[in-house]
Amino acid sequence: MRRSITVFPRLTDKEVSAVVETRKQYARAFNMSTECLINNNSTSKGFLHKVQYETIKEGCPSLPTGLIQCARDVAVEAVKTWNAKKTKLRQKHPKKAERMRRPSMKEGCTMRYDVRTITLRGSQLTFSTCDRRIRTIISIPEFFTERYSSSEGWKLKGANIGMDRRGRVFVNLIYECPDSVIEENNEGKIVGLDRGVYNIVTTSDGVHYGAKDIRRVKRKYDHVRSELQEKGTRSAKRRLKAISGCEKRFVHDQNHRISKRLANADEDVSAYVLEDLSSMSMLRLKGKSNKTMRKWLSNWSYADLEFKLIYKCQRNGIRAEFVDARYTSQKCSVCKTIDKASRKGNRYICRHCGSSMHADTNAAINIRDNYITWVQKLGQAAVNQPYGWGATGRPETEPVGKTLTSKLSGLSQCH
Ligand SMILES: [Zn+2]
Repeated sequence: MRRSITVFPRLTDKEVSAVVETRKQYARAFNMSTECLINNNSTSKGFLHKVQYETIKEGCPSLPTGLIQCARDVAVEAVKTWNAKKTKLRQKHPKKAERMRRPSMKEGCTMRYDVRTITLRGSQLTFSTCDRRIRTIISIPEFFTERYSSSEGWKLKGANIGMDRRGRVFVNLIYECPDSVIEENNEGKIVGLDRGVYNIVTTSDGVHYGAKDIRRVKRKYDHVRSELQEKGTRSAKRRLKAISGCEKRFVHDQNHRISKRLANADEDVSAYVLEDLSSMSMLRLKGKSNKTMRKWLSNWSYADLEFKLIYKCQRNGIRAEFVDARYTSQKCSVCKTIDKASRKGNRYICRHCGSSMHADTNAAINIRDNYITWVQKLGQAAVNQPYGWGATGRPETEPVGKTLTSKLSGLSQCH
């Protein structure tokens, strides 16, 4: 598990220009490495070192060896990702795959440092640059040092150093702790979460998150925005920009609150089950028209909420699982009949068994049950098929309960 925090050390002008020069040479070392790897069709660090080290040393004369190695490691990863993307694209659009741009770094890049090139002792931070090692005092917020202390297994893994738009040098410190330290809760209950337009999140227990207040503020922003857009003057545009910032911060704050409340729930929760929104085809299958879908997605930052929820739950030993969520809003959670007509506004009134409840709660229960059914199916199949999924031609998936963020996509549907 990883956590990071950004600090802005106070540097002299000379030190800042050293960082600027280091970035230039770092980018050059990266670009030379990727060129070499792609031209030789290799992703080996050892090969790169043997073939290219002297050339890079000549091309980036004052870049410390440690940083050349960092740039090289980043290059190897970038080429691996690039290769994988290219192979995937080649199957569908061979021409596009050939035109794919090679990974490259610009002078304004962010540099990755490892433990050899950056050290932190107490509040004294030192890191390598082209000029010499910069030594500076930083202050890390107390909440961070308390929560991610070395006594709990957290260690500095490295850092990203770069410059923001205002020209300030930032250091993004990365801490890591072995996953085994976190105890997973397997005893608690499984809760389904439905994300929607009206309520941001609804649990299968019928609790709605982020309803009234958010809608009010959101409406206010929508209103002001449409008025400003109509005006179209220069000052209106300036104001629009400012508002977009305010709105972004509001959304982030609310997502933090919602995910925090879910992750620190009083009840004993072992897993939250969410619908897998990563594929657009799933969205189409959710039975919404494109226009409502667009509105729904633009209405709230669901990816951000998902990210925050996962990392907050991770720390508390709660798993986040994903299921295919087809028909979850059309199916009755009691008798499991799929009938679009049963849904009326925000109520779900089953035309078959007569049960009635909030439509979002109904969907959340379906999401939870989809997951439970899937786990049961997996358990049975594992008994019948000792050779694993591969033998039956099913996609290989990570065992349930072992990964915190395992996306259970590409499975047979379970509704
Ligand atoms: Zn029913």
